[in-house]
Amino acid sequence: MAQRVARYEKDRDFPAEPGTSRLSPHLHFGEISPRQILHAARKHGKMADAFVRQLGWREFAHHLLHHFPRTPHRPLRGEFEAFPWARDRQRLKAWQKGLTGYPIVDAGMRELWTTGWMHNRVRMIAASFLVKDLLIPWQDGAAWFRDTLVDGDLANNTFGWQWSAGCGADAAPYFRIFNPVLQGRKFDPGGKYVRRWIPELAALPDRWLHEPFEAPSGTLQQAGIKLGETYPKPIVNHDEARDRALEAYAFTRNRSARL
Ligand SMILES: Cc1cc2nc3c(=O)[nH]c(=O)nc-3n(C[C@H](O)[C@H](O)[C@H](O)COP(=O)(O)OP(=O)(O)OC[C@H]3O[C@@H](n4cnc5c(N)ncnc54)[C@H](O)[C@@H]3O)c2cc1C
Repeated sequence: MAQRVARYEKDRDFPAEPGTSRLSPHLHFGEISPRQILHAARKHGKMADAFVRQLGWREFAHHLLHHFPRTPHRPLRGEFEAFPWARDRQRLKAWQKGLTGYPIVDAGMRELWTTGWMHNRVRMIAASFLVKDLLIPWQDGAAWFRDTLVDGDLANNTFGWQWSAGCGADAAPYFRIFNPVLQGRKFDPGGKYVRRWIPELAALPDRWLHEPFEAPSGTLQQAGIKLGETYPKPIVNHDEARDRALEAYAFTRNRSARL
């Protein structure tokens, strides 16, 4: 236990490793209280600070929901009411099924569908992809997460989605857009997580695992991959999608400045 607390800050961002507590479903269903957890964690002194901070986010999310009960459906920051979202059922389905062509996103979505769980780092990446690369409303992503997560929780889920979309309290700035390839390389460097959830990519060398669409055709052939058949081609080009998202954001800001 002490060892896990000590390693928490370092391990918590790597989805292939059991680096977090997995207490969220138990907190959600009231099987354990945050005070009990805080008390147990504090026995480890300052070593537990990073973990205790996460409990603080949970408290914050619950307070926000209490004071702003509209937020499961509407953005906390009013200017986002005018955001030009692009509803697209086909792309939403591809995201839900883990068929976007971006391995770290797809691995997360398949882990979620198969187990009811998704690692926090991958939740952030998958959410960012939906709202920024696909411009699909965060409410659609939040509804899917609530349906499928074993820890589906109105306060934490709303908070996580509004943070990802840039429209919540203390949100990630909208112009910070996760690059799913770089995130994959950084947080799943050996590809253990992606290979676990996307076995059809398992034989691809690490160099290409997070961007199979850039791999030389001989490498794909050797790994038994036919892009568009055994694994999808990317449903959007990330660089283009990023520009589109920034334009949408600029539109929203200019519009609210004029009002
Ligand atoms: C888009 C998105 C949606 C999310 N939806 C949910 C949800 O429906 N239910 C849910 O419980 N969490 C949600 N989270 C927050 C976080 O991903 C989970 O709480 C965490 O992954 C649970 O794993 P753990 O218990 O091992 O966390 P640990 O890292 O061990 O953290 C301990 C506890 O702190 C709390 N906590 C940790 N991170 C957060 C956070 N970012 N916000 C609020 N509380 C946090 C949780 O209660 C967690 O059990 C979401 C995050 C994002 C980005």
